[in-house]
Amino acid sequence: MIPILLYHKISKFDISGTWVTPNQFDQEMQYLYNQGYTTIMPDEIQKSEDRRQRTEDRGQRTEDRRQMTEDRKPKAESQKLLITFDDGYSSFYSIAFPTLLKYGFRATCFVVTGYIGKKSEWDVNFGKKDRHLDLMQIRELKQYGFVIGSHTRTHPDLTKLSIPKIKQELRDSKLELEDKLGEEVQYLSFPFGRYNKLIVNLAMETGYKLVFTSNPLMKEVLPPENYVIGRMGVYIIDQLPQFKAKLHKGVFQLIEARKAQVINSFSRGTWIWKTMNPFCKQNI
Ligand SMILES: [Zn+2]
Repeated sequence: MIPILLYHKISKFDISGTWVTPNQFDQEMQYLYNQGYTTIMPDEIQKSEDRRQRTEDRGQRTEDRRQMTEDRKPKAESQKLLITFDDGYSSFYSIAFPTLLKYGFRATCFVVTGYIGKKSEWDVNFGKKDRHLDLMQIRELKQYGFVIGSHTRTHPDLTKLSIPKIKQELRDSKLELEDKLGEEVQYLSFPFGRYNKLIVNLAMETGYKLVFTSNPLMKEVLPPENYVIGRMGVYIIDQLPQFKAKLHKGVFQLIEARKAQVINSFSRGTWIWKTMNPFCKQNI
């Protein structure tokens, strides 16, 4: 399996649990570089998933056969990874972008289209409001081969919205980005990693090619199975040994996945706080 990493904010200090420091990020990228990793884009994940699906369709479902397939994989395949960023904070441009370029990496960045160039209103963060990427920065990222995806328009918990509102979030963010970037937006990341079968189907109808969640384990089986992609979060509490564990299949990777599930469930507190707090802006 190709590792898929999920980052949020890069900062020298933050109150949330989903940030990493600039030094930590540099160390992690340096490790990947030294190990010979190369970054891929979501279209390669799609091809890889399609291959896996075809293999399973041919009836090769037993553990022995899966192991044989793993063993036959060329070495290069195991040294690929996808790096993704959610929320589109401006620190992606000022810190992550130059660091990624230094090591010859590229990433996929999911932006909240209603907040392009604006300070965050959706992220409570105890009053600290970070600025999001502006349009010039997003266009520059695209010029350097970075992929820009949708993280909806206002970053709601989609599972709490009516069907028309879900459709609006999925469609408007896609159309807005396509209008501003002049190319098709094919990928979506769910705010707070929250989704259900209905939301996945609506995303497909809207024209997204792949959808991403923050749950790396992906227990739910949603048809088509290869359409929803789980990601492994990287956080401030991760030291290099934990970071390494996230990349390689095994019991330590499973521990990291469980840890990510717990951290993600805390991040949902943002939505609960917003719902309960009448002074928090609900719409923009
Ligand atoms: Zn988010």
